[in-house]
Amino acid sequence: MIDIFTEIIRINGEDELYKLDKACEAIKEGQVVAIPTETVYGLGANAFSSDSAKKIYEVKGRPSDNPLIVHIAEKQDAKEIASYLPESFYKLADAFWPGPLTMIVKKSEKIPYTVTAGLDTVGIRMPDNECTRYLIRKSGCPVAAPSANISGTVSATDAKYVYDDFNGKIPYIIDSGSSKIGLESTVINLTLTPPVILRPGRITLEEIREYIPDAVYHDSLIEEEEEVINPASPGMKYKHYSPSCPVVLIKGGLSTAERYILDKIEDNEAVLYFSEQKKIAHITPDFCLGSYGSLSKCAELVFSHLRAADKAGYKKIYITGVPEKGLGLSIMNRLKKSAGENAVQLRDIVFVCTGNTCRSPMAEFILKSYNIPDMYVKSRGLDVCCSSGMAFNSQKALKDNDIPFSDFHSSQLTYGDVADADKVYTMTDSQRRIIISAFPEFKDKILTLKENSDIADPYMHSMDFYQVTFDEIRAAIEKRFKDEL
Ligand code: AMP
Ligand code: MG
Repeated sequence: MIDIFTEIIRINGEDELYKLDKACEAIKEGQVVAIPTETVYGLGANAFSSDSAKKIYEVKGRPSDNPLIVHIAEKQDAKEIASYLPESFYKLADAFWPGPLTMIVKKSEKIPYTVTAGLDTVGIRMPDNECTRYLIRKSGCPVAAPSANISGTVSATDAKYVYDDFNGKIPYIIDSGSSKIGLESTVINLTLTPPVILRPGRITLEEIREYIPDAVYHDSLIEEEEEVINPASPGMKYKHYSPSCPVVLIKGGLSTAERYILDKIEDNEAVLYFSEQKKIAHITPDFCLGSYGSLSKCAELVFSHLRAADKAGYKKIYITGVPEKGLGLSIMNRLKKSAGENAVQLRDIVFVCTGNTCRSPMAEFILKSYNIPDMYVKSRGLDVCCSSGMAFNSQKALKDNDIPFSDFHSSQLTYGDVADADKVYTMTDSQRRIIISAFPEFKDKILTLKENSDIADPYMHSMDFYQVTFDEIRAAIEKRFKDEL
């Protein structure tokens, strides 16, 4: 393909929309123009023209069996694109359009099979962006567009990233600033009963269910899928969101991931971090994803930071995984694809006793001595008034049994310890119940170390008692972790 001159048309307000008229002419002539939307930037062309759509696939390097989304300016434009619009379409359009929701319906004859990659269905969306809707209106046709990135790479959320990928390949890039949402649209197939979400986005299943109570996520979005063998949406099967350097996705809690990154990080590696992860914030301070507690900033910035880190030449990018619910499920859907095989599942094991001086420190060092890969082990107390060292007899029991241990200070159990933990093991059932009553949302991961019985407190007892406690704890750990030791 011969390189052409690529002009970036910057629009700063509605009074500058007239500057887009030459881009509208280009669309009418069958060319491809990059368009801004609130989700990500798109690579748009006339959706009624098969030749125009073909150009999109060529420029993007997109496999021809991965359909394009058709963008419209007004809700009523959908009637020309679909052969039938179900009631659910009107409900969702009223609730979410203009906005980040793509609805799949039966296509009309006006939409060529090039756009739908041979399917009889078509994805339609009305974006919340004045420039793009002006372009659609003025061009006189709906605009088919996939995300504006070379196939397989990270979606572009800013005109400068579109330029990096398509300079010399398309005549115009419309620049209206960074995409506010930052993740591609939620895609829902309304031709299925019940309607199925094929791609999660800013609009979550919970929000959709307020209008369509029986809507569901596609199985592949909620199961730990190894490989999508029969993808419901053709786009699901391709490599996606991959910068040129590896992305390491660390699953298993904020502070556990923070410790892992500090252990592993080398020169010239980047960290996309959450504001709560203060110990790793200094590594690449520009790449903050906002708070782990509210993920909309993370959604907005994650693609942009991935691209910026890649462009800056870092040789690896670390990022902490988020809980897979609501918007977190949509973010993880992208990050898992981005990391591919480089996803690490960390486990954070917490042993709890009363004072964190006798039983739980022994448990901590016994389990640590097995060096189970990607496992972090700590111990905490329910009633630690002032931090002290490990009981002398506990230290002696560890020494007598050749278990190495380091400098130790007792600490009080916190909400964060429980939230981050993979499992919390208590010495007694009453300790288990106390933690559950304080943090009921985590009840499933709080267990007694020994099934069905307590490990008695050796405090103030003889050394023989401590040795018995040690043996009891070690036997219980060996039972709990028998497949990994
Ligand atoms: P992109 O615009 O690059 O983010 O990709 C559009 C996404 O929408 C892809 O994952 C497509 O597979 C999906 N999509 C578009 N049209 C349809 C359709 N008719 N049926 C199923 N999935 C679709
Ligand atoms: Mg895409």
